Amino acid sequence: MALPSRSRLEENLLGVQQRIAQAALRAGRSPESVRMLAVTKYVGPETAEQLAAAGCQDLGESRPQRLWRLAENWRGPPVRWHLVGRLQRNKVARTLPWTTLIHSVDSERLLDAIESAAARLELRPQVLLEAHLSGEESKQGMSADEIGEVLRGRGRWPHIAIQGLMTMAPLEGGQEAARETFRALRRLRDALRSEETPLAELSMGMSGDFETAIEEGATIVRIGAALFEGVSSDESDESPETGL
Ligand SMILES: *Cc1c(COP(=O)(O)O)cnc(C)c1O
Repeated sequence: MALPSRSRLEENLLGVQQRIAQAALRAGRSPESVRMLAVTKYVGPETAEQLAAAGCQDLGESRPQRLWRLAENWRGPPVRWHLVGRLQRNKVARTLPWTTLIHSVDSERLLDAIESAAARLELRPQVLLEAHLSGEESKQGMSADEIGEVLRGRGRWPHIAIQGLMTMAPLEGGQEAARETFRALRRLRDALRSEETPLAELSMGMSGDFETAIEEGATIVRIGAALFEGVSSDESDESPETGL
């Protein structure tokens, strides 16, 4: 069964890569200015390894435990791991050694926890600050004001490299609401960037809205569902032994 599902996976990957390139060109940007991060939370390790074998070098997970388990048992070609979902402070120390980029830093308390673990482990983690700009309740992320404060106070976290901003579009409102949120993130970045903190990365856009995000300046799009359509996975997210 591995062969047919792999070819469907490769087709999906090519399709998404083409759409990314076309959206970039439409926006007058170079396709190389947009990185695709494959979010593997819906599939098991074999499918993730097939994705890496097909050329995906950036893989992301939304749950730290899933990231540890995948990364620790990885048998595919080398990849860079990203965490895109909530990071609890008691999971920071085990997560830092694996991750290239943490997209979802949403509080000063979390920055404090990352700072102390990074100092102890002699690491310099790269992070994005997650912004909550859509006005929806119950979404994680910091307000524009909180992000401004973090950047003004960044001397408190000398071991952390703040590389940019991340956001999620609202669940309601379609492409128009998504576009407004993405534009707001870019404007916030433009307002807050400085020589010391250029905030080069804008992580925004998922399967349903990545083309809109690219038109609004995304440098990283986080793609899950669109890659796995029609692919029969080796293991579901809800498999019994995930309960770490
Ligand atoms: C699941 C997830 C994605 C990918 O979403 P799709 O709609 O499946 O492409 C991106 N970002 C975050 C934070 C996620 O949790």
